[in-house]
Amino acid sequence: MFETTHYLTSPDLAKNMNDIIRTSIQSCVGCNKCMRVCPVSTANVAFMDRHQRIKVRTDNTKCLACGACIDVCPRRARYFVDDTESFFADLAAGKKLSVLISPSVRTNFSEYKTVINYLRQMGVNRVYDVSLGVDIYVWAHMRYLERNHPFTMITTYCPVIVSYCELHRPELLPRLSPVKNPTCILAIYLKNQLGNDDDLAVVSPCICKQNEFDPTKENLRYNLTFARLHEHIARTRPEGLEPVESDFDLPDIALGSAAAVHEGFMRNFEFFMGDRVRIDSASGQSVFGLLDSYASSDPADLPQILDLVSCDSGCSLGPGHSSDLSRFRVNNIVYRNSKLSFTEAARARYEKLHAQFDADLEITSFFRQFIPTPLIQDDYVAEDRIEQAFLTMGKRTRAQRTIDCFACGSATCREMASKIAMGVNIPRNCTILAKNRLSDSNKRFNDYLQLIRIMGEYMLASGQCDKQDSIENSLMALCSAINASKASIWRTTYDRMELPRCHILLSFPSTRHFGLVSMNTENMPGWLEALGNGEPVIRSSVFMTPKEKKFFIEPGFDNLCCVPVMAEGDFWGFVMIVRGPQHPFTPEEMSVIESASFLIMSNLISSLPHDPVGEHYFQDPGLSGD
Ligand code: SF4
Ligand code: SF4
Ligand code: SF4
Repeated sequence: MFETTHYLTSPDLAKNMNDIIRTSIQSCVGCNKCMRVCPVSTANVAFMDRHQRIKVRTDNTKCLACGACIDVCPRRARYFVDDTESFFADLAAGKKLSVLISPSVRTNFSEYKTVINYLRQMGVNRVYDVSLGVDIYVWAHMRYLERNHPFTMITTYCPVIVSYCELHRPELLPRLSPVKNPTCILAIYLKNQLGNDDDLAVVSPCICKQNEFDPTKENLRYNLTFARLHEHIARTRPEGLEPVESDFDLPDIALGSAAAVHEGFMRNFEFFMGDRVRIDSASGQSVFGLLDSYASSDPADLPQILDLVSCDSGCSLGPGHSSDLSRFRVNNIVYRNSKLSFTEAARARYEKLHAQFDADLEITSFFRQFIPTPLIQDDYVAEDRIEQAFLTMGKRTRAQRTIDCFACGSATCREMASKIAMGVNIPRNCTILAKNRLSDSNKRFNDYLQLIRIMGEYMLASGQCDKQDSIENSLMALCSAINASKASIWRTTYDRMELPRCHILLSFPSTRHFGLVSMNTENMPGWLEALGNGEPVIRSSVFMTPKEKKFFIEPGFDNLCCVPVMAEGDFWGFVMIVRGPQHPFTPEEMSVIESASFLIMSNLISSLPHDPVGEHYFQDPGLSGD
């Protein structure tokens, strides 16, 4: 029986997640496709850039480097980095390096043996086929099952699945097979059995193998992808050089190369174990949901082995692949290869190989440890913070909170609200909110055009005698367009002592019957300085002095703004707008008020024969002061 506690609990050990997935922020258009495919709800973070555009970047402390977002990004804003360039730089500098190549090289390079030759020409010491690591991996699992009889076990050579369990499902770690992945197994084999102490590079379609490197056991230092290697060779191969073939240092001798597709491991296993064990397998993005359901399923229903990889077609077409073959073509190549290998005639040869492994290898030297690094609970956000987030999205009713359209990358509005509360998404990323805003802004735009048309009509229709009506009607139209309650025109004058005084000339609702209303400027602290400098004044009752409140605030009206009016470059007076609570003035509304005030005042001032103040100019109906 082997030691089966293969997961660590030390808080000192943190999962070393590499910065593999990057985002070109400039290219991102904030379409949220990456969020929709990501298996980790908080691995993508939406934010506004300095031009107020929505962008989405990764949080690499949570990203599993599964590469799904690279596949779906329509702008190629997502990409991965690998070690191809540093590997070749170190090789050129004379470092002694060997290379381990994934069995899926057979479906990624049509002439893969010329790639082996290229690497040798570049100075690589040895080139090995990871198929041998797969053979040892299969052997180790068979022995582990025979001796430990685990009730149920998850097998995977996919670093994404391991990271998912370590970060998000640590309760599943005891269920993961303790056997390392085939690449790491081969690296250990090379070091322990063959005495190869070179620093090692792995070449495969997998972009995140380095998340599994364990420097205490293996010499793995570089992760190269087929895609980048392909680019490098195309760029650097000397022109006119005839491709020459060369074979691996330890050619495939058993069944390992069948692992180029996901079912390869299963086929291997079934070949040796028959139907003695039930093996379920799955690949692609569905595996994360499967793991969640595995954690909560009745153990009696679980298979003895659940074999998982996160890429759809197994590793062969992983995010770093360089194949232009269809999935069926890939499967066909592997099928034909394995048909030649999985023969009864070959069984005795393979069993002899396993017997040799029994004699030469210590299975526990291929065991690994897992590091549970559960993230701070992602899914718990206090209810009051979720409520607050709903309000920032303008969602007040149950119907608004259960639209659940998935456009923001969250399956439900509630999930979106908790992401906003956690700071990984922003209210403006709710598509429904954005649509409503757009339709509101279209409506407002129409209201403003309507306002200009109505004011123009009043001006054209009014003769000198009904000028006062025309201006009060324009103030009424302005109030209606910006949802305000009151609007008034104020004239500012200075007495002999140069002390200012403000007088209401006209207003909506009309104050004509009250006579000329004057205001001591003590009730308007600081207003005239700002207005005199051409700046608007915006006051809310919350911040008003008691005197301001007393003179300007009535129940239901507690926000006001004043825009200055200049006549021939001098401060003439101002237009004041008052409205109800929870309606602070937006910059857009301030612009409308300023423009409307300019029109109204140009109508008013141009028609005045002399300054009305002091002569009770508007006391009588009509402009009849002359
Ligand atoms: S998929 Fe993601 S990274 Fe790509 S453009 Fe859309 S939001 Fe940006
Ligand atoms: S690589 Fe995978 S886990 Fe990381 S952000 Fe993209 S989809 Fe999410
Ligand atoms: S309505 Fe908004 S918050 Fe709700 S799922 Fe759709 S986009 Fe996301």
